[in-house]
Amino acid sequence: MSSLVVRNIGELLTNDPTIGESPMGRRFNAAVVIDGGVVAWIGESAKAPAADSVIDAGGGAVLPGFVDSHTHLIFAGERSAEFEARMASVAYDGGGIWSTVKATRAASSEFLRRRSQRLRGEMLCQGTTTIEVKSGYELTVAGEQRLVEIASELSDEVTFLGAHTVPEEYASDRDGYIELVAGAMLDACSSHARWADVFCEGVAFSVDESRYVLGAAAQKGLGLRVHGNQLAHSGGIALAVEMEAASVDHCTHYTKDDVTLLTDSDVVASLLPAAEFSTRSPYPNARELLDAGVTVALATDCNPGTAFVTSMPFVVALAVREMSMTVDEALWAATLGGARALRRSDVGYLGLGACGDLMVLDAPRAAHVAYRPGSSLVQHVVRDGVATSFEESVSW
Ligand SMILES: [Zn+2]
Repeated sequence: MSSLVVRNIGELLTNDPTIGESPMGRRFNAAVVIDGGVVAWIGESAKAPAADSVIDAGGGAVLPGFVDSHTHLIFAGERSAEFEARMASVAYDGGGIWSTVKATRAASSEFLRRRSQRLRGEMLCQGTTTIEVKSGYELTVAGEQRLVEIASELSDEVTFLGAHTVPEEYASDRDGYIELVAGAMLDACSSHARWADVFCEGVAFSVDESRYVLGAAAQKGLGLRVHGNQLAHSGGIALAVEMEAASVDHCTHYTKDDVTLLTDSDVVASLLPAAEFSTRSPYPNARELLDAGVTVALATDCNPGTAFVTSMPFVVALAVREMSMTVDEALWAATLGGARALRRSDVGYLGLGACGDLMVLDAPRAAHVAYRPGSSLVQHVVRDGVATSFEESVSW
């Protein structure tokens, strides 16, 4: 495997306080060498050792690749009419999630593979180097197995989400569906999945139902994740803490007790503000969570219904503008925070031995991610030490 040096970095964020200014591990006029796919050297640009290939950052900023710890990337169809109606405050019943389930069931594996790879490509060119991918749009044993298999071609972070919603054919037999999810469906999916997730919400699964599914998944050796407290005080946060889940995602509604539970646990609170943006809903109070010492991650929640968003830069901009996170807090939550939500110790930062995953911005400071929302600032993305380059920039 060849080596790569990224030199002439104006501002480098490493998220490693042993390497630079705390807490972001910030350095200036720096270089990074990646060898064998991992970070091998960080220091002054003028002193950088030679490598097989060179990226001249031209004074641009470099930061770790984004870690998007919550996506529903594999689906067919789209729901723009639902979005338009919601924005116009007009009643609309296009079937919601069920319409996506029907379209996904009818799609070929080849189509699902191409569509999800295309979305994965959109993410990569916006700086995202690690993604989590959930199933959850077929809700049959064979269908969910197909989705986790396709997901495993995109990422090591595959999540089985059979408990996404109760499918129509089980409308009069909820308990039968929950038995199926925790039994045959879990059996069929567990070898391709690292995680299991449940949609613990009044409109989906109760706390007891969610606990039952998560307990079965834990027995199969899967790590746990929870969609919780998106629409109301669902009890999802307390359940995630009780079950020692890696992450509870959304956390739009919570109580003081929930905050205490999170602070005293290893559960990451993953905030998904693109969902609030796309549904015109109040954002979670990130400030209160951060001030209490909760570990916060940011992710896209990319899905066709409530957040058809692949851009982590957009999510960072929302977190800063709408959730009172500082730029540094948002960049940390979108990188190392995401890694914590996936219990990964090799991504989300640029310390020695970390994965060689980074982005070079066509901007002198990393703050431009939030400062210039909507602009394509990512000029090079390096993943496992392999570079993908976009347009040339002027020097900063
Ligand atoms: Zn989700």
